[in-house]
Amino acid sequence: MKQGIHPKYNTDGVVCTTCGTRWQIGTTRQNLRVEICSNCHPFYTGEQRIVDTAGQVDRFMKRLSASQDRQAAIEKQRTVKNQPQPKKSLLKELYGDDA
Ligand SMILES: [Zn+2]
Repeated sequence: MKQGIHPKYNTDGVVCTTCGTRWQIGTTRQNLRVEICSNCHPFYTGEQRIVDTAGQVDRFMKRLSASQDRQAAIEKQRTVKNQPQPKKSLLKELYGDDA
């Protein structure tokens, strides 16, 4: 092997940040980390769950609840708007309240 032209060879391995599994591989990179691996991915484990490392599910649930609140407010306004207004009698309309 010619000296001084090859990158440093590391055998640190890859670490899964979700389950903590360490995979022993040889690489020229240092501190390799992956978010999901075959040890914890639902496809391989067979269990139905959502792996949420970036908080995307929380963000989605927050947006969903905000949207539902907005929809409820709009619906409430609609029902208030569509309430039948109490009609004034024709006499009161023509001659005012003193009639
Ligand atoms: Zn994993």
